[in-house]
Amino acid sequence: MAAKYADVIIDISHEKVDRPFQYIIPQELSDSVCPGVRVHVPFGNGNRVKTGYVIDLSDEAAYPVDKLKTIAAVDDKGITVEGNQIQIAYWLKRQYGSTMIAALKTVLPVKQKLKQLERKKVTRCVLPAELLQAAKVCSKKHQAARARALYALAEEEVLPYELLSRKLNVAPASLLSLEKQGYLKIETESLYRNPVKHMDGNEKRVVLSDVQKRIIEEVISDYRSGNPGTYLLHGVTGSGKTEVYLGIIEQIIAMGKQAIVLIPEIALTYQTLLRFYKRFGDRVSVMNSTLSQGEKYDQIRRAKAGGIDVIIGPRSALFTPFPNLGVIVVDEEHEGSYKSESMPKYHARETAVQIASMHKACVVLGSATPSLEAYYRAKQGAYKLYEMTGRHGGSMLPEVYTIDLREELKKGNRSVFSRKLHELIEQRLQAGEQTMLFLNRRGYAGFVSCRECGHVMKCPHCDVSLSEHRNGMLICHYCGYEEARQKNCPECGSKYLLGFKAGTEQIEEALHKEFPAARVLRMDADTTRTKDSYEKILSAFADEKADILVGTQMIVKGHDFPNVTLVGILAADLSLNQNDYRAGERTFQLVTQAAGRAGRGDKPGEVVIQTYQPEHYSIVHAAKQDYRGFYEEEIAFRDFMRYPPTAHMLAVLITSRSGEDGERLGKAMADAVNKRRVQGEKQYEDIQLIGPAEASIGKINDLYRHIFYIKHEDYQVLVEIKDMLELFCKEQELKNQTVQYDFDPMNTY
Ligand code: ADP
Ligand code: ZN
Ligand code: ZN
Repeated sequence: MAAKYADVIIDISHEKVDRPFQYIIPQELSDSVCPGVRVHVPFGNGNRVKTGYVIDLSDEAAYPVDKLKTIAAVDDKGITVEGNQIQIAYWLKRQYGSTMIAALKTVLPVKQKLKQLERKKVTRCVLPAELLQAAKVCSKKHQAARARALYALAEEEVLPYELLSRKLNVAPASLLSLEKQGYLKIETESLYRNPVKHMDGNEKRVVLSDVQKRIIEEVISDYRSGNPGTYLLHGVTGSGKTEVYLGIIEQIIAMGKQAIVLIPEIALTYQTLLRFYKRFGDRVSVMNSTLSQGEKYDQIRRAKAGGIDVIIGPRSALFTPFPNLGVIVVDEEHEGSYKSESMPKYHARETAVQIASMHKACVVLGSATPSLEAYYRAKQGAYKLYEMTGRHGGSMLPEVYTIDLREELKKGNRSVFSRKLHELIEQRLQAGEQTMLFLNRRGYAGFVSCRECGHVMKCPHCDVSLSEHRNGMLICHYCGYEEARQKNCPECGSKYLLGFKAGTEQIEEALHKEFPAARVLRMDADTTRTKDSYEKILSAFADEKADILVGTQMIVKGHDFPNVTLVGILAADLSLNQNDYRAGERTFQLVTQAAGRAGRGDKPGEVVIQTYQPEHYSIVHAAKQDYRGFYEEEIAFRDFMRYPPTAHMLAVLITSRSGEDGERLGKAMADAVNKRRVQGEKQYEDIQLIGPAEASIGKINDLYRHIFYIKHEDYQVLVEIKDMLELFCKEQELKNQTVQYDFDPMNTY
């Protein structure tokens, strides 16, 4: 049955989406009114006809029906760019569960004025010697300000205009006059349109391999024939995937279409951007977290107006409103950061496929360790799979040693470094080659407990232990709570309140102890607080200013380090101990990618995997870089347990101010699901319900958390259950609890 009422927004700027108005859908328009269409509606006291967008439909009136007005007409100009975005938002809302407002806010750009669009810079036009000469002349003429400017430019080829005008106090007129005399040039550069500064246009084109050529040809030919598909490129880093993206995008652009390239922020390096700039010039735009809202909005405006052909960015770049989208590339498609952590908790890969289908565009996924989801779909024939083997430049795969840490302990080695790893680090230091040590962050808390009574120092607001930092503070990594580290146990007063030494800081300390001469850099959440510290640490390491880089998963991405010939994975199985169905996959990915960092140059590499579970299939296959072997075992496990991707799973998370409220609501919601099941509706019979229970972190920021899971093979059944639960909660008029939905979650709660 067609819906009876439509929510319409009159002005689709971000601030106004909070104010939809409900209208009656007249019988004769019931077929043509759907989210995204433009409608003409009577508005305000005078009932002037205005144009608005339908954003949502419902069968029930939110106000007394006699107060509602009726939609006058449907605009027949077809779906606009905004209309498209509303349709995407509507899909997000339905598919992932959120309010329409939250979905619209995800999709629509924040409308904001740009404070500063441009920056002026001053460049010298003559040789420094000539500037110095001119400066002396100015000094003699008592033109001290001009002399200052000339001296400064003799030192530096390019200077910010503000530096000269403000800091050096040179009047604009003086600068203009120096420009007229030909000493310098004043230019305005836009701040963000060209995030890559040193572009030179001459790109060295590689001769594509047969495999690369074939992939590009097939993708483009499918596209041309009106059957755009989804393609998965499986190939190690360096196997030439990016060249394939570039080739496809080039042809798509030549047809007058546009491209979206998703790259996880952490892998969005200067080198990668440069390749896109060299190929496509300033019709490329980059979206990243360092842009202000205003800059983002301006990018989006340019995209809509046809001023950009390619946008590169993380998850949110997916919603760039291109008029003629032709291709979406999702590089490193297995990355966890493609899943949104706030409502709607959408996955960029799935959303890309949806958006592409709306535009008749194609989707190209790439990964060295594809997600189980993508590989499974490829095997099922929904995606086309291309295996790209081998690295370009022909560097060899590294030699891998798997070390059983239980054996080390038996042999009396209590160091965090196995004997093998110790020996190999020593060798590298002698040879002047570099080492990367990789620690799986998850599970390593650095918590503090009393060895006398067992008391663990916990956050008073969250159900997690506090982490000890070297500055003598105990910090909660969930809410930021801090307290000073005490000497004695607050429970029993004993003096044996000790830190559990682990984590990257401890590794760093151990390195200083065991290899006092080694220069060590550390990279983790603590050392990369500021925006560019990440890039700085990596460049320092690339410039060989350190022998050893210690870090969390952050260090497995990005830069190429040709001098790294040893990679140590210190506790490969830490991530296996999580009570989480993706633990094996995550371990395999991390170990494979970390191992892939060794021997990228012309020197062969070695990898040491330290683990307590050397026999675990994700470690065994990662050591052999055997994706398919891993996939077969993992998919069998998922299938047996009815986990995604063979089945689907909906997590329902309830947060509440009081534990009882959360528990009560969890039970009531689970009952509602069970009721449907026993009522014998066919498709509900195979629902599997797990919980409700307290979440594994039972409290964050003083909010209690309860969780239950529902599994089913058919995603749409879970969507229906979510709709049913939303309705159920609406009837309960919840005040003290909030409910979040997470489809095919990346973590268990
Ligand atoms: P990936 O995206 O899979 O990591 P890239 O496309 O970045 O791989 O390729 C890795 C390196 O090999 C790059 O420096 C690239 O220029 C080079 N390369 C890729 N394809 C070829 C080719 N057909 N011939 C020569 N060099 C290539
Ligand atoms: Zn104690
Ligand atoms: Zn806390």
